[in-house]
Amino acid sequence: MTAHTTEAVCNFCGQAMIVEIDLEKLRNMTTTEKSEYTDDYIVRNCSCDKAKAKRKEILHKNFKRFIHSEVCQFLDKFDLDEMSIKTSEGFKGKVKRDTAGNLKIETTINEVV
Ligand SMILES: [Zn+2]
Repeated sequence: MTAHTTEAVCNFCGQAMIVEIDLEKLRNMTTTEKSEYTDDYIVRNCSCDKAKAKRKEILHKNFKRFIHSEVCQFLDKFDLDEMSIKTSEGFKGKVKRDTAGNLKIETTINEVV
């Protein structure tokens, strides 16, 4: 991989970081996409608390989307009544069919890390 390196700063703590972007990828990126990529890189890699909180927020949003789409479809597809999911980040989700046959969704965040 040939990579282009650029310096970017964390929006939360101001720490500068070197971000590597694959040259193949960079060639097809607009300026906006490039800045989104570096922002995303920093959020995923900075060790400050706000970046950590942002990471968790993004993961939780993706988790909820996953429960509401794939998990519900899976239950319908295989005619299941209940399913529980737990992730290593401490998110829990439960989908349960009520007596009327509707799916009820519960998600929780475990604050203990
Ligand atoms: Zn930071």
